[in-house]
Amino acid sequence: MSARQRLLGCIALVASGLAVAAPVQVEGVRVATDNDRTRLALDLSRPAEHKLFTLSNPHRVVIDIKAGRIVKSAMPLPTGTGIVRKIRTANRQDGNVRIVLDLERPMKPRSFLLASNGQQGDRLVVDLVPVAAAAQPAAMKAPAVQVARTPGREIVVAVDAGHGGKDPGAHGPSGVREKDVVLKISRRLAEIIDADPNMRAYLTRSSDRFVNLRERMERSRAAEADLFISIHADAFRDRRVRGATVYVLSSKGAADEANRQLANRENAFLIGGVELDDKEETLAGVLYDLSQNAALSASFDVGDEILKEIGQFTKIRKRQVQQAPFLVLKSPDVPSVLVETAFISNPTDEQNLASSGYRERLARAIFTGITDYFVANPPPGTRLAAVGPSRPTGGPNVEHVIRRGETLSAIANRYAVSVRRIRSANKLRSDKIVVGKVLRIPTKQDI
Ligand SMILES: [Zn+2]
Repeated sequence: MSARQRLLGCIALVASGLAVAAPVQVEGVRVATDNDRTRLALDLSRPAEHKLFTLSNPHRVVIDIKAGRIVKSAMPLPTGTGIVRKIRTANRQDGNVRIVLDLERPMKPRSFLLASNGQQGDRLVVDLVPVAAAAQPAAMKAPAVQVARTPGREIVVAVDAGHGGKDPGAHGPSGVREKDVVLKISRRLAEIIDADPNMRAYLTRSSDRFVNLRERMERSRAAEADLFISIHADAFRDRRVRGATVYVLSSKGAADEANRQLANRENAFLIGGVELDDKEETLAGVLYDLSQNAALSASFDVGDEILKEIGQFTKIRKRQVQQAPFLVLKSPDVPSVLVETAFISNPTDEQNLASSGYRERLARAIFTGITDYFVANPPPGTRLAAVGPSRPTGGPNVEHVIRRGETLSAIANRYAVSVRRIRSANKLRSDKIVVGKVLRIPTKQDI
């Protein structure tokens, strides 16, 4: 047999293998409720195609998984929880499996696939979010069958809580641990991101467990993240040093000595806890190439936005985005930033990090920074790129307090209105604006 014939034989074999591929097995069905959101997770034997639609009278969400079968391990199905009254499922004649959620009231379903990550296998996740109050009358008038259509995908933000498990990170004078506070900030940030219809968060760890740096990057890549943001808290022997710092990746040569030392501390837990030092030279070489990358300039842009927002309410150690050779930022094509939220070694900063109110402000500031960046730079193919940011819905009287560093065009971008409209609504003669002044933002009703 010639090489060519052998090759053709191989192709035929692969093709026939696909034709008789075993059905996707739905191995588990889980449902959880958190405040007004409900999440359904289906454990799958492999990634699957699916269709999602809603029915009314009574309200239902229907999930069809192509070439799927529900198997014994998924039984019994979980009982209803939250707004889900009941979960039903059937293997259908057409070879698909159908899962029906009976709901107490209409909900907006959103679905996405999560790739297996070593801890869990492939999953199909369906989030049910309340239909916005304003949209409800329209939904009720809508025809009986409504196929959920999404113009473009959601932006995926990988939120990486530093350290965890056997790696506690730094700790403060009264014992507050970095790994605990950064997890709380990260989880809250993920919640805020998930509440935005244009975005979805992916947590590289959601509990107190050890995940090595390479795995964090790999998971984010599998989740197809558009942005990677690592959350940390810094420490220094001089307890007077305090404030937040935002970093992007740098080659070994470009970082100053202090930043290099910090990076070594943060990098200490590399692959399965192997120290960095002996690998540093090789890695520095790899990192250097990346400094050429366009992702780095995007990282600076995101970093700038986050720094601006955090600087509104807390002390900033360095006004500019810094560079340090953090391994966790070594993603070749995704903008990546590392936020040292504060110095946990400083008593005031430690107290701040221990306060839920302060963590909330941090999470919100980081989110606003991320939003500002994506509104200006929506990734192609995303919903944000297709339809623009959700407009303010507060009626004609939305107000915006001008903050330091803002420009009229950035504000206009943020609310998806033109500079001209803001100018005319506020009778501004030029684009000059004054920090602290309140701007009226014209909303849809005005247009
Ligand atoms: Zn850290």
